[in-house]
Amino acid sequence: MNLILLGPPGAGKGTQAETLSAKHGLVQLSTGAMLRAAVKAGTEVGLKAKSIMEKGGLVSDDIVVRIIKDRIAEPDCQGGFILDGFPRTLPQAAALEKMLKSSKKKLDFVIELKVDDKALIERISGRFSCAKCGAGYHDTFKQTKVAGVCDSCGNKEFIRRADDNVETVQNRLLAYYKETSPLIGYYFAKGLLDSVDGMGAIDQVGGSIEKVLAKLD
Ligand code: ADP
Ligand code: ADP
Ligand code: ZN
Repeated sequence: MNLILLGPPGAGKGTQAETLSAKHGLVQLSTGAMLRAAVKAGTEVGLKAKSIMEKGGLVSDDIVVRIIKDRIAEPDCQGGFILDGFPRTLPQAAALEKMLKSSKKKLDFVIELKVDDKALIERISGRFSCAKCGAGYHDTFKQTKVAGVCDSCGNKEFIRRADDNVETVQNRLLAYYKETSPLIGYYFAKGLLDSVDGMGAIDQVGGSIEKVLAKLD
């Protein structure tokens, strides 16, 4: 099963992808995480992406398409994947279609997480993650079970993203509405779109996504 989680920054894509990948044995493909790794490693891609990400803009289609194309071709993705943060523009969606077609794969679902803009800001400003395994948390909505200790790996160090600040968030929202939101109509027209209420608690949203996926069984 191959699916896309679509939604504005902070909607809960990464959070839901984490649970879904464990439950269904799917690989989570987050272009944001891949780009952050490239920035940290100081690769050529990382150098190009760094300042754009800091400002909250979109990295060029060429770069992200290349990253995803290489990653999807790897053996662990053959059993299915969840795209989290890709595609983000119509040209990226077209490139995805092309690469899936040439490897005889298809998209089973595009799931849109619908979340109010005010809630996005609240979610983003409280977001942090485990420095070791990447598990995502929130100051209010998803605290660690034991204070200061990662539920998944027991690590005690956490990080906050440099771009999760008020000024950058505004640009990221603008980029979403300008460049990414047209994908909702695009996938609706292709008969692939399911929209889910993303305003409920994390488990509730997960339940709504499972209902959509059950259509395949
Ligand atoms: P995205 O990947 O779409 O940018 P995340 O999954 O990182 O979003 O979620 C953003 C923040 O909001 C995280 O701190 C996460 O723990 C929290 N969060 C995710 N889903 C919900 C939810 N349904 N209700 C409240 N907080 C949530
Ligand atoms: P969020 O889910 O909070 O929006 P991501 O981790 O998905 O954040 O992305 C972080 C940043 O990485 C984006 O603001 C953008 O600069 C860059 N990025 C990630 N995915 C893409 C993509 N598919 N196309 C262009 N830029 C991307
Ligand atoms: Zn951890």
